[in-house]
Amino acid sequence: MEKLYEGKAKVLFPEGPDTLRVYFKDEATAFNAQKRGLIPGKGVVNNKVSATLFRYLEAHGVRTHFLEELSDREMRVLRVEILPLEVILRFKAAGSFAKRYGVKEGTPLRAPLVEYSLKSDPLGDPLICPEAILALGLAAEEELSQVRTTTLKVGELLRDFFAQRGLDLIDFKLEFGKRQGEILLADEISPDTMRLWDQKTGEPMDKDRFRKDLGGVEEAYQEVLRRVLRE
Ligand code: UDP
Repeated sequence: MEKLYEGKAKVLFPEGPDTLRVYFKDEATAFNAQKRGLIPGKGVVNNKVSATLFRYLEAHGVRTHFLEELSDREMRVLRVEILPLEVILRFKAAGSFAKRYGVKEGTPLRAPLVEYSLKSDPLGDPLICPEAILALGLAAEEELSQVRTTTLKVGELLRDFFAQRGLDLIDFKLEFGKRQGEILLADEISPDTMRLWDQKTGEPMDKDRFRKDLGGVEEAYQEVLRRVLRE
């Protein structure tokens, strides 16, 4: 079937007027697509981890675009109009945040911190403040307030979920979409979009292994899936 859109890690296929089929690829990119590679099996892991987390969040009252898993690498989702924002929640300093403020990775934050980036490949996803989001009309005040509240709730739920599986959730990125006036959690939640450190060893178990050439990338993704499914 003809694809609707092909991104860096996923392909979207149209289904009915209301739904899409998402196919998760093994391709990986980092640093605004300057670094490219393949992580064999990643698509399967990200599909299953995302599906499991969407179901868990739905069970706890978070509205998402997820409908059902279709195969190892595919899920069915509701069509939404994606807000052009990357919403980041941080529990501990890492990545661009640690670099920007000159703090050590792993420094705990006094409270969970919500940050926003403008989704734009040519601009390199620049940070954007809530006032600028409103001034540019990227989201309405009520929508932004709902995005923030939902992100904090998702943060608490995911932190508990991973803590029970021996993983420390450091930070993650969410995307939201609009459908019939309602804001839904969309995109994916996977080791591509989260930082997860093993509680015992402190080892990163996420895309940072690829970004930083730490080795054992495939193994880390498989281990996260194993713990998420609790096999
Ligand atoms: N992240 C993401 N997509 C992006 C940028 C970041 O999924 O385009 C995730 C990343 O995996 C991490 C969190 O958001 O879990 C915070 O990332 P950060 O802002 O530190 O950026 P990075 O250092 O990864 O570029």
